[in-house]
Amino acid sequence: MLRMIPRRAMRFAVGCAMLVAVVSTAAPTARAAEPIEIFDAHLHYNWEPKPYYQLDEVLALFKKHRVTGILATSRPNTGTHALVDARSEGLQVVPFIRPYRVRADVQSWFGDPVIFDLVKDEFKRGYYRGIGEFHLSGKSAENEWVRKTVDFAVTNDLYLHAHADDEAVEILMRHNPKARIIWAHTGFGLSTDRVTARNILPCGASCRIAAASPTAPGN
Ligand SMILES: [Zn+2]
Repeated sequence: MLRMIPRRAMRFAVGCAMLVAVVSTAAPTARAAEPIEIFDAHLHYNWEPKPYYQLDEVLALFKKHRVTGILATSRPNTGTHALVDARSEGLQVVPFIRPYRVRADVQSWFGDPVIFDLVKDEFKRGYYRGIGEFHLSGKSAENEWVRKTVDFAVTNDLYLHAHADDEAVEILMRHNPKARIIWAHTGFGLSTDRVTARNILPCGASCRIAAASPTAPGN
């Protein structure tokens, strides 16, 4: 029972949307016409330098399309702050710390001690549940600042939201076997029978749907 978010909404609500159907005891034909609630498990509300949509427009779109929960991230984290501070009725916000200030950080965050300081500073806000989405490829995950980030997440009971290949994910797990990883876009290149590692929550088929959006800005 999937209903895609319209293209306009997809411009900011990209990634793996976890779709939750409203439970009903009605007949199947009646159920199909009923509204569903959507938890968007991969939302970026980027403010670089300004948001494409104003906050009130975003919140209105959530209401219109029955998005009642979001895993919220942004570049920089200002967008996430705004979503949390809005305390919008009927919207559950699960904020994650993004290790990015600007788009260029996507390519270098894993070797930049300043970014690790950014993560620690953001964490002081007290409401974050994870770190990510971050991008990692292969041996770049070996970097000491990545290991520190993984350890920081474990110490502080945070999830890691990783857009990474399988080699990088294995390195993350090696850094700290207690790490809890949400594997973004798993469906890109891996068969489901390989997505079996403990503590890894794959985000497969639905990620693929959202990533296929022609208007999705990505990252
Ligand atoms: Zn993403």
